[in-house]
Amino acid sequence: MKNDRYFKEIADESLRTMVAAARARFIFLSAAPIRLLVPTTPLPWESLESTLFRAAAGNGLSGIARLERALKIDVTATADASGYARLSEYIGSDAQSIERLVPTDADGGTVGLNGLVLDRRHVALSSRRLCGQCVAEQGYGYAYWSLSPLAVCAKHGVALIDRCPVCQARLGSSRPAYAVCRCGADWRQVEPRPAPEASRHFARVIEARFWGEGAPDSGSLGFPDSHLERLQLDELLDLGIFLGALHHDAKTVMLRKMSGPVSMGHALPRFERAGRALMDWPNRLYAALRGARAFFPASDTPRDVARSLDHVVYMAVNSLQGEGFRFVTQAIADFLGDPSEWNTGRVRHRLDTSERPKC
Ligand SMILES: [Zn+2]
Ligand SMILES: [Zn+2]
Repeated sequence: MKNDRYFKEIADESLRTMVAAARARFIFLSAAPIRLLVPTTPLPWESLESTLFRAAAGNGLSGIARLERALKIDVTATADASGYARLSEYIGSDAQSIERLVPTDADGGTVGLNGLVLDRRHVALSSRRLCGQCVAEQGYGYAYWSLSPLAVCAKHGVALIDRCPVCQARLGSSRPAYAVCRCGADWRQVEPRPAPEASRHFARVIEARFWGEGAPDSGSLGFPDSHLERLQLDELLDLGIFLGALHHDAKTVMLRKMSGPVSMGHALPRFERAGRALMDWPNRLYAALRGARAFFPASDTPRDVARSLDHVVYMAVNSLQGEGFRFVTQAIADFLGDPSEWNTGRVRHRLDTSERPKC
């Protein structure tokens, strides 16, 4: 008898525990999650992923996978008004700052982010990127790292990461903290990969445009001309994508898609190539044009040379806009008007594989 009562109490207790756990799980996964106890306010220019990780850490939760499920939000996709209303309620922040924080679908294939309207190809929504040194110093990560061609931290001059440098796993929601991998690597402590000075300067120009500041004087950054100051953010990003796509191999230029690169393995060499081209303008562009020529007849005529670059001009027409288009097409016209540039160093560039990009 005594034993029966004892086992019944255990069974009741187990049942109560199970019911409580199931109820807690239901509340957590329901469409109207309860508000987190400790509110979280987005910091200046912070990314959605960074804010969610801070909200999770501030409330004793590990990772953001459960938060994403509870809020029906995916940090690698756009959200609608109901998405940021839920988020605002849940993390206890005002709706206006959440609206700026969350990438949203805008008209005509554009994405709203941080008060800007960006072309969808300029936002690497499906990829997560960060600079471990910025997170170590600031404690959070920036939204502008998701600009698709941008591959370098402007402040530290190092490559952004989208994979753990130790175990090569992609950055995901299941990692325990914003800058800590599931393998245990703390990216704030991992030695970053330094980027060439030219790509760091280009990143500074892009960063300033994203933040609504005038572009820094490109002459003071090492760029010989002041042309970059005239370009808007979308023109700068298109210019970076175009210059990164030029290659010492005509077939690669023709095959390359003119979409913004997403994976850092592809974005980094392209961004570095674009930075170097701008740093040594127009010599690097000329070298790329020589390498990108589709054919080399025995005797060049201006018409032959122009025909051999049809695919590059086509790419410029289809991918550049405004000042960026004028800037590039003027340089191509100058190249076509100067026969001494058509073949100079062509053999060297064909043989020089040390500079050959990997993508
Ligand atoms: Zn940084
Ligand atoms: Zn790892």
